[in-house]
Amino acid sequence: MKKAVMKIECPFCRGKAIVSYFTKKIPNFGNVLFTTIQCKECKLKISDVMQLDVKEPKAFVAEIKNEEDLKTKVIRASSGTIKLKEFGIEIEPGPLADGFYTNVEGVLDRCEARLKAVLNSPISQAQYKNAKKIFQKIKAAKQGKVKFTIEILDPFGNSALIGKNVKERQLTKKEIAELKTDIIVFETKRKKK
Ligand SMILES: [Zn+2]
Repeated sequence: MKKAVMKIECPFCRGKAIVSYFTKKIPNFGNVLFTTIQCKECKLKISDVMQLDVKEPKAFVAEIKNEEDLKTKVIRASSGTIKLKEFGIEIEPGPLADGFYTNVEGVLDRCEARLKAVLNSPISQAQYKNAKKIFQKIKAAKQGKVKFTIEILDPFGNSALIGKNVKERQLTKKEIAELKTDIIVFETKRKKK
């Protein structure tokens, strides 16, 4: 798992940026390439993950019922959509979407941090009340006190949930068409349909 670093021109400000990358074998998933682009000049930081083996458009779903289930692994590429429907949260893909490898608790941490920022921004009272409610529900969920489902869909097959309660299936053509795909694709080899 050697880390390699390469100097590049920042894709945003054309300053001096670096790309660092390494591959890691993730059990029950495959070889994954982790990349991070960082630019000191414009403070850009984008991370992403990419499956290097067989890729299929897939959806994964897991029911989280207790603290143990919170350890379910989550690989989220910038092309993956995460749905936490009981919280009304959807993490969508995009050119600046972050790719990460964490567990369900880590995803809740990210949502919590995001909500904290929302709560500290100028929003209406109704929005504040709603955000606060979700914030508290996430806190309880992190202690294993709330049952919920987590779903991840990725038309490029770079994202997954890994754990014993995980169910996986192929994405339907309709689902693939409905998913947001306004993302930058770095892949050179794309599977022909
Ligand atoms: Zn830059």
